[in-house]
This record gives sequence, C-alpha cells and structure tokens, in this order.
Amino acid sequence: MKKIQMVDLKTQYNNIKPEIDAAIQNVIENTAFINGQQVGSFSQNLSSYMGAKHVITCGNGTDALQIALMALNLKPSDEIIVPAFTFIASAEVIGLLGFCPVMVDVDYNSFNVTAKNIEKAITINTKAIIPVHLFGQGCEMEAIMEIAKKYDLYVIEDNAQAIGADYKFSNGKIQKLGTIGHIGCTSFFPSKNLGCYGDGGAIFTNDDELAEKIKMICNHGMKIRYHHQVLGVNSRLDTIQAAILDVKLKHLDKYCKLRYEAATKYSYAFKNIEGLITPKESSFSTHAYHQYTLKVLDGRRDELKNYLEENGIPAMVYYPIPLHKQEAFLKIANQNGDMNISDQLSNEVLSLPMHTELDYKTIAYIISKVLQFFNK
Ligand SMILES: *Cc1c(COP(=O)(O)O)cnc(C)c1O
Repeated sequence: MKKIQMVDLKTQYNNIKPEIDAAIQNVIENTAFINGQQVGSFSQNLSSYMGAKHVITCGNGTDALQIALMALNLKPSDEIIVPAFTFIASAEVIGLLGFCPVMVDVDYNSFNVTAKNIEKAITINTKAIIPVHLFGQGCEMEAIMEIAKKYDLYVIEDNAQAIGADYKFSNGKIQKLGTIGHIGCTSFFPSKNLGCYGDGGAIFTNDDELAEKIKMICNHGMKIRYHHQVLGVNSRLDTIQAAILDVKLKHLDKYCKLRYEAATKYSYAFKNIEGLITPKESSFSTHAYHQYTLKVLDGRRDELKNYLEENGIPAMVYYPIPLHKQEAFLKIANQNGDMNISDQLSNEVLSLPMHTELDYKTIAYIISKVLQFFNK
C-alpha cells in the first residue's frame, strides 16, 4: 500500500497532469506572469461558479481577510467578533490592523461560532463579524446575517475551508458559502479544497462599491497608475496559479463529492463506537469536508493519534490551542463569556486523512485501525 498522507497532492496532480502541464506551459510561453489573461478568466469562471458578482484574486487567504477589513473604513479600537476555535488568520489580521479581536466560544457539534454567542458579545464598538466555516461546513449564516442587520455590522465570511459548499436558507434558497456576507474570503493554499501550486487567495462580494475599494487596496491603493488614493498592499494571484486553478475549478464539484464519500464511509464505520464522536452534518449547509474531524473522548485523543501513527496513518490536531490562549493575543484580544467548548475541543479533536484520492483499500485500512484501537 502507498504511504498514507493527510493530503495526496501528487496523485491528484497525476490524474490531471496533461491539462495542468499545458496550462502552465501556456503561461510561460506568453510570459504574462503578472495579471496575465488567465487571472481574468479564472476570476470570471469562479464568479459564475460561486454566484458572486465580483471575485478579486489576491496573494493568499490571509491577505484576503486583511484586505477585506481594510475596505471597511474602521477605526482603531473597533471590535470585530471571531471564533476562539479556529486557525489564527482571521483574528491575526484584526490585531495587525489595530482593531480589537473579540473572541467568542463555538458550538460543540458544528465546531462553528453561533449567532447566540455572537449577539452576546456585541458592544457599541462592534463593527464586524468574521464567521469561519470550519472544516468545510457553514455557520448558521441566516441567523448571523439577521443579527448583523439588527446591529448594523459587516459580515466577512472566512470560507477558506468551505469552498464548494452550499447554504440553504429557510425559504429554500440555496447560495454558495462565501457569498452570503458582505464579503467572503478564501485561500488557494495547496491543501485547501481548491488549492493551487503555491499561494493564492480570493475575495468575493456582490457590492460594487466594496469591490472597487478592494481592487484598489490589492493594488497599492490606486485606480489610475501612480495615483494612490489610499494605502494599500501588493497582493496578487500569479498567472501560473490562476491557470492551474482554472483547470482545478472544473473538478471542484467532483472533488467535493469524493471527500464527501470518504467521510460517509468513515462515519458509517465509526457510528457505534463509544468514546468517539463523528462529524455532525447540519440541516442548512452541505459539508465540503476540508477536514474529517473526530472528537475523541475520555482523554484518549493523543493515545489514538499515536496508535494511528505507529500504524502508518497520519492524524492531525486542528487546532491544539484555541485563540484566546495564544500568547500573541493575550494583550490585544477580548473574550466574551467562557470558552469552555473551545477548550474542550482543542483537547478532543483529531482529523483523519481526507483528500480526493483516498481509495477504498486505504479507507478500509484506516477504519480497521481505528476500530482496533477501540477493541471493535
Ligand atoms: C488556510 C486558512 C486561512 C489562510 O489562508 P492562507 O492562504 O494560508 O493565508 C485563513 N482561514 C482559514 C480558516 C484557513 O483554513
């Protein structure tokens, strides 16, 4: 059996090699390395796929979040609500720009921030909310948007882990996650569900004014060359990466389906194990399964992780330290209420290998080792 990996980018590449190689070669032949035609065509294709009026590509997912915040005319000490249990990027950019990250606890079942916890954290200084669709499943966006409207707040969705997933509103309307808030951000980091072969990111919005501003900020704050209206950054998606992403976008729905199938096999096999909780799917969001994340009870998480590793199966802890406990935030962040669930999750979570090339034999082997650990 092949060495098992959390993500198998090599096999995925081999399966689409002719298309990818031709796309890369084409960029090199034309030497339009920056802002080449492929950047525009990928943006357009992604815009139709997402159903977002504007797609602005940029250097990476963290830049996307930073640029989104820069477009909102906020002032120092404005508060922005973020989940405590997530990757650092969404809270990091808040702090970097001199705003105050306000961390709130998440829901045990979904790993996601809830409208209820967000509402409790709102003060007169609150200006925005960054819900993160963690592990590939959407936050309760309908309720979050209602709160945003009630308190006049911006919503920036961190969709880095959920590209391709759909959100279903109570009236039956379906929209892609990442296009529901005022701005959505995503990352094309290689291991993401839509990953390139380097760094990349994108920003989604349906608001023409925000789109103009975001484009300007990405490009040194200028609309007309060398006329700088605001302070911006230099954040661009390379043409080669855009060409690769344009190929991979065509496969994204298939990739989501393959991840979903692997997750279904895992969850079916583990459903009767006491001491192990499988991911719970919500009624309002499909699951893109960026990660397949178990909760291991009774303090046995690290034991299971080691057992799997001894058997050649990598398993990862996303995330071992919640943000409210990270040293970088101790002085600059506020927290609202207790963070019991985030603390508990950081001790219980374990993500299994999850990618588009998990064959039946590999999944069966991983399942057998997990069952063996629990004496099943
Ligand atoms: C990957 C990721 C990011 C950052 O993306 P980069 O492209 O690595 O900067 C932000 N938020 C979440 C939730 C992520 O998973």
